[in-house]
Amino acid sequence: MTRNEEALDIKHTNYRNIYRLFFQYNGLSKPQIVKLLNLSLPTVSNNIGELEAEGKIREGGFFQPQGGRPAIAYQLVENAFISIGVEIQKKNVRCLALNLQGNILAQKDTALYFENEPQYIESLCNIIHTFIRSLGCLYTQILGIGFSIQGIVSKDGQSMLYSRVLPGEHFDVKELQPYFDVPVKLFHDVKCAALTELWFSEQIDNAVYISISEHLGGAIIINNQIDLGKKGYSGALEHLQIHSEGNLCYCGQRGCLETYCSLSALLSPNETIEAFFKALRNKDELVLMRWDAFLEHLAKGLNTVYLLLERDIILGGEIAFYLIPEDLKILQEKILKLSTFPLEGDFIRIATQQKYTSAIGAALPFLIEYLP
Ligand SMILES: [Zn+2]
Repeated sequence: MTRNEEALDIKHTNYRNIYRLFFQYNGLSKPQIVKLLNLSLPTVSNNIGELEAEGKIREGGFFQPQGGRPAIAYQLVENAFISIGVEIQKKNVRCLALNLQGNILAQKDTALYFENEPQYIESLCNIIHTFIRSLGCLYTQILGIGFSIQGIVSKDGQSMLYSRVLPGEHFDVKELQPYFDVPVKLFHDVKCAALTELWFSEQIDNAVYISISEHLGGAIIINNQIDLGKKGYSGALEHLQIHSEGNLCYCGQRGCLETYCSLSALLSPNETIEAFFKALRNKDELVLMRWDAFLEHLAKGLNTVYLLLERDIILGGEIAFYLIPEDLKILQEKILKLSTFPLEGDFIRIATQQKYTSAIGAALPFLIEYLP
């Protein structure tokens, strides 16, 4: 590194470190930054000037230190940049905007039937443009658009590797990118939901995230990251075979966990999840039996998962909202009966994030990439 490059590098590091502080503190004065980062006042002043000119921070009141002169307080401009998440569902498109602090600025659901046609892509992109216009921001403020899809996506987020639920060879970044001047990426909906859980709960470092909604899916969290495996197939617990001659799965195989432990498997046609859990909590005998069988199958699947990975299991998806601690107790007891090793303590919990998790998780990667 030449001396010039070295100076530039230090300058860049100072800029990033100062910008980063605004994500941690509500308001900061120049003297406070001088103290926190052990930098000179001229260095701090230069960087504050730069950040303010770029619209990344703004003046926000005064600090009155004891006995000292009041100092201007600067604050992060939280909406300086925005990340967009779009969740593709069978009958619906959900658009959501996150600001730099990860707060939801806007959310909108629009009815649109998924179709494997170029016409669908066009309608979808129109919906997204309308949503972005409604935010009243500039396109230069958009960090990127992430699509959460019910299918496994290539590691680089460019194409769909596998989806029998929403089959679509048109669903590819190559088809979507021409409609937008900002980066576009695809993500697997379950991994999006797991990322949202990871982002909002600080104490996860290793876990297995299982989403139980209309379909079942899994994601593995290793060292605070969503594991994608070699190509992107990692964590596909939905096709874990628990009965060799079992129910036929949409993948073509028999006995997959999906065919016993998804909501499609649990609920009868026309039965809602609300109705099911209401009857369950009222101790309806038939519903109790169905629930017990569901947990029995889930325990079989989770026993294998725990045997392989030995880490906490987080239950997410639509079902999470209805679960109570008693359900987890029964499930853990069932796993204990199957387990080879003695298991101590609780190892299953309910996801803390239960709303818009896939759409949020599709927006988060752009935000994470941007953060200083
Ligand atoms: Zn399957």
